[in-house]
Amino acid sequence: MTHVIDGNAVAESIRDDLTACVDALRDEGTTPKLATVLMSEDAASATYVSMKQRDCEAVGIEAIDVEIDPDAPADELYGTIDDLNADPEVHGILVQMPVPDHVDTRKVLRDVDPAKDVDGFHPANVGRLVAGDPRFKPCTPHGVQRLLADADVDPEGKDVAIVGRSDIVGKPLANLLIQKEADGNATVTICHSRTADLAAKTRAADIVIAAAGVPEMVDGSMLTEGVVVIDVGVNRVDADSEKGYELVGDVEYDSAAEKASAITPVPGGVGPMTRAMLLYNTVKAASERADVAIDLP
Ligand code: NDP
Repeated sequence: MTHVIDGNAVAESIRDDLTACVDALRDEGTTPKLATVLMSEDAASATYVSMKQRDCEAVGIEAIDVEIDPDAPADELYGTIDDLNADPEVHGILVQMPVPDHVDTRKVLRDVDPAKDVDGFHPANVGRLVAGDPRFKPCTPHGVQRLLADADVDPEGKDVAIVGRSDIVGKPLANLLIQKEADGNATVTICHSRTADLAAKTRAADIVIAAAGVPEMVDGSMLTEGVVVIDVGVNRVDADSEKGYELVGDVEYDSAAEKASAITPVPGGVGPMTRAMLLYNTVKAASERADVAIDLP
């Protein structure tokens, strides 16, 4: 029997625990506050931001949304970040990516106060993660790590193939899974578009994590019997549906599920966990700022 890993259920349980954490912080006079910054007309980006706002409200985190005209000078975004950094009421800052071409993305990542960098993308926080002393684990990799733990899949001693080497998924996830600590200790192969014989790498793996952004590129023929499959991909493909599209992962679900001992669906796998771990980081940022110890889930 293939175990279908239910990201919605795991995320809900984390959100419930975070609600109790927020209550505890409020009792101590601190209400966690997240600022989202949107400088884009992209409909998907706007949707992501509004979902994050709603998630915050559901657990009692205060959320403010700063919208900047995509044609405004880059300095307007840089100035907004400075203001949010200086605001003692704001515990977390999330600049929705991508930003327009005339904005220096690396400067944006560098400018956010590392103590408010709830995405975990500031170079100082990336460095801490690599060094095994993470402050904020990036949300998607952290969510994947939690899903494995919930499914009782211990990465220790396992061969893991990650398809994708992006700064937001592949690289930080590899760094998390190789750490010499609980939920780590894996042997990780990071694959990308120049990898020779990708199928040989995925077939040799006990755990395959697909984060390439290519619809259904990993199929059952690329997997070994009993493999654990985590599908990070979210791709819109044309479909005869009301919206005109449907969401599919980077894994061809049916053929992969035939081989897998456990697998995440799309939607309902990694996506909800990414959102839950943003809330986690925001609550963590608030508790550290307020110097109030809480039991994070
Ligand atoms: P990027 O486009 O930044 O990176 C994709 C990576 O996949 C690159 O390293 C690329 O290689 C590699 N790749 C692309 N094609 C192939 C191929 N044919 N064979 C092997 N490797 C390949 O994507 P992201 O990391 O941002 O996102 C990946 C996917 O995850 C997307 O579908 C995205 O929507 C989804 N996502 C989902 C989230 C969630 O919460 N569920 C959160 C974040 C992302 P190279 O470096 O050589 O170009």
